[in-house]
Amino acid sequence: MIFAANFKTNHTRSSTKLYLDALSQKIAAKKSEDQVYIFPPATALDHYKGDFTLGAQNAYPTQNGAFTGEIGLDQLEEFDIKTILIGHSERRELMGESQEKVAEKFDFFKAQGFEIIYCIGEPLEVREQGDESVNIYLLEQFEGIDTAYEKLIIAYEPIWAIGTGRSATMEEIVSTHKALRKAVACPLLYGGSANPDNIKEIAAIENVDGVLVGSASLDAEKFASMILS
Ligand code: PGA
Repeated sequence: MIFAANFKTNHTRSSTKLYLDALSQKIAAKKSEDQVYIFPPATALDHYKGDFTLGAQNAYPTQNGAFTGEIGLDQLEEFDIKTILIGHSERRELMGESQEKVAEKFDFFKAQGFEIIYCIGEPLEVREQGDESVNIYLLEQFEGIDTAYEKLIIAYEPIWAIGTGRSATMEEIVSTHKALRKAVACPLLYGGSANPDNIKEIAAIENVDGVLVGSASLDAEKFASMILS
């Protein structure tokens, strides 16, 4: 299983260090095949590597240049970061990232050999129209994306389930991951209110290769309990 923690705009550089120290100790006994990814704020990307991979929540598709407020490849390379989240719904919705921009980022970081966790997900009104509409919507988010890229992981995150405490139902996850599996061969994560209470059920679903966790990942003990469950 893949366990990925997305801190978003939570934790500082120093609290991330404490978190990583605590997490490393707690997950020392994890199964060797389980993989852990942590996406802290950019200010905490310089921390040491342990039995986990640190990745960037976002970056601009450039080596460097005049892109006020952004970080690019130079800044990530300094910290040996080779993993990135692309297409998170918060960036698409709150930062106005278009599919075109998302695809541009994907191409750029693919060309740099980055491991990419590519996020897709539907809004509630699409989910309410049923599975077929959801599948069509999700496939549109593959526009301009090389889904055969060998360092790709896809995270299915229904937007209405993110940070709401309301995860998708097991039936919804089963059917969506089944449809995605027909379209792509890469590992598939589920994200959206995954937590210690539902992790076992989610992890047991066919075609779920891991989880992308926001809120429940912020506490090292809680996240470790998910990894060890
Ligand atoms: P959540 O966030 O676990 O708080 O729902 C998931 C995500 O946005 O990656």
